[in-house]
Amino acid sequence: MSDCVFCKIINREIPSQIVYEDEKVIAFKDINPVAPVHVLLVPKNHITSVKEVNTDNVSIIGDIHLAANEVAKKMGIYDRGFRLINNCGADAGQTVQHLHYHLIGGVNLGTKIV
Ligand code: AMP
Ligand code: ZN
Repeated sequence: MSDCVFCKIINREIPSQIVYEDEKVIAFKDINPVAPVHVLLVPKNHITSVKEVNTDNVSIIGDIHLAANEVAKKMGIYDRGFRLINNCGADAGQTVQHLHYHLIGGVNLGTKIV
């Protein structure tokens, strides 16, 4: 059994609001949303962060982007646009040590990144 909260969500050990799932990627609503749509895209394999992406597992990044398009369509924000964000490491404020991308939208987010 894993101590990782996102592995627990993947394994259905803790509840979440899953909005999309395929063989390699799961997407669920962020528990603390910062916008009308705030979904986390997570690889089912435990990868700690972008720093652990390598030549063997890099295809998961493409899988996550394909899933992001599907989630954006499903959540009705594909045409308006959305932001896809990854936090990597301490200075970026990464709090869950399992690779994930925030898909955020449903409101005009402006032009500033931070
Ligand atoms: P980060 O700062 O990029 O590591 O973001 C981690 C995100 O995971 C935060 O936005 C949290 O609100 C979210 N989060 C933490 N635990 C859960 C959970 N059990 N279900 C859904 N989202 C969560
Ligand atoms: Zn994990």
